[in-house]
Amino acid sequence: MSEFDSIRQQVLDYTQQLAREGFLKGTGGNVSVRVAGQNALAITPSNQDYFSIHPNDICIYSFDKQKIEGDLKPSIEMGFHIAVYQVRPDVNCVMHTHQDFASAIALIGKSIPALFDEQVRFLGRSVDVIPYAPSGTGLLVNQVRKLVKNHHNAYILKNHGALCLGSTPERALHNVMLLEKAALSYILALCTGEKIGKIPLIVRELAFGKLRSEQKKLEQQLSQGSV
Ligand SMILES: [Zn+2]
Repeated sequence: MSEFDSIRQQVLDYTQQLAREGFLKGTGGNVSVRVAGQNALAITPSNQDYFSIHPNDICIYSFDKQKIEGDLKPSIEMGFHIAVYQVRPDVNCVMHTHQDFASAIALIGKSIPALFDEQVRFLGRSVDVIPYAPSGTGLLVNQVRKLVKNHHNAYILKNHGALCLGSTPERALHNVMLLEKAALSYILALCTGEKIGKIPLIVRELAFGKLRSEQKKLEQQLSQGSV
């Protein structure tokens, strides 16, 4: 028994759900959940089949990359998961996927503009592209740290994949799905060669305002120590 049993199970359950639904490919992609009240996270191990691992294989690490529990090596992307938690107190779950349609956008390198009300409400004003940097490098960590300060919940990693954030694992999963839907619609619309319509600016700002006020509430609760 360990105090981390339930968070480990949660990380494994969501990782397997993402893999079953085709958002992770092979051993690619990784998932983490913030350990409440500690500067630590529970994260998937590096280079493992997500259907062969046990909850105990989920790694518990501090934000200064010291092992707390777990024998396997953590994901090589642990650095950017930590960077997100450090700059975004509203985020409690990070999902990095290699999902098909968002990955196609990663090759084009175009931000997804505000196409749908629901997209802006949960993902932010646009889905921006984080410039390319090799996996597992400090350069990629710095790029992620810089971009996530815009309070959005979904990003494209240039020539790599996607990054989705959520206040809970449920929200992060929802954001992964919403991103895939927006990416597919955007690709199809681009294929027509026609001009792509965006939602009106006022609607975009109202929808993003709802997301921001939710985030501010969470930040406030955290600073008061009530969650
Ligand atoms: Zn990746």
